[in-house]
Amino acid sequence: MVTQPSLPYSPDALAPFISERTVSIHFGKHTKAYFDTTNQLIKGTEYEDMPLDEIVVKSDGILFNNASQAWNHIFYFFTFDPEGLHEPEGALKRKIEETFESVDNLKETMKEAGKTLFGSGWVWLSADADGKLIITQGRNAESPLKDGLTPLLCIDVWEHAYYLDYENRRPDYIDAQWNIIDWKIAGQRYDNIFEDL
Ligand code: MN
Repeated sequence: MVTQPSLPYSPDALAPFISERTVSIHFGKHTKAYFDTTNQLIKGTEYEDMPLDEIVVKSDGILFNNASQAWNHIFYFFTFDPEGLHEPEGALKRKIEETFESVDNLKETMKEAGKTLFGSGWVWLSADADGKLIITQGRNAESPLKDGLTPLLCIDVWEHAYYLDYENRRPDYIDAQWNIIDWKIAGQRYDNIFEDL
């Protein structure tokens, strides 16, 4: 069985960038439903005792869709800290500047990826095993874990992530994310790649 962790901040902590109402529905109803459905699907199967990330890598079809959405949402919500570090630092900052020239260019590239993703999905900043940075669009529940990448941060561009607060203005929602994404968390995920080498 997989368990949805509690949010590490209060539901109003991300306002005004993401409202308490959106957090409550998005985490309390959408994310919960992905966990509940995953648990219904794995009961009595080979997946029953697997950690969530392993289910994501090994499953497909409806189980993959629900397990991956469960994993993606925990990753998304646990990258926010309104009191966190709002500019990258250390090795990740150096790699961003080497790859994208500037942090602003990285943000613009991710925004463009979010704007041009047709329908529902995610924008990911990930690293490969050598620490090379890559920005990808994921349709629906698609996960960088399937490609052997290490996700560093993501933006949920399903309408349920922003419609209550931004209506159809997806680019405004994407811009607002940089006020609450904690680069310290993304930086630790990046540093962990090299600890394993
Ligand atoms: Mn979502």
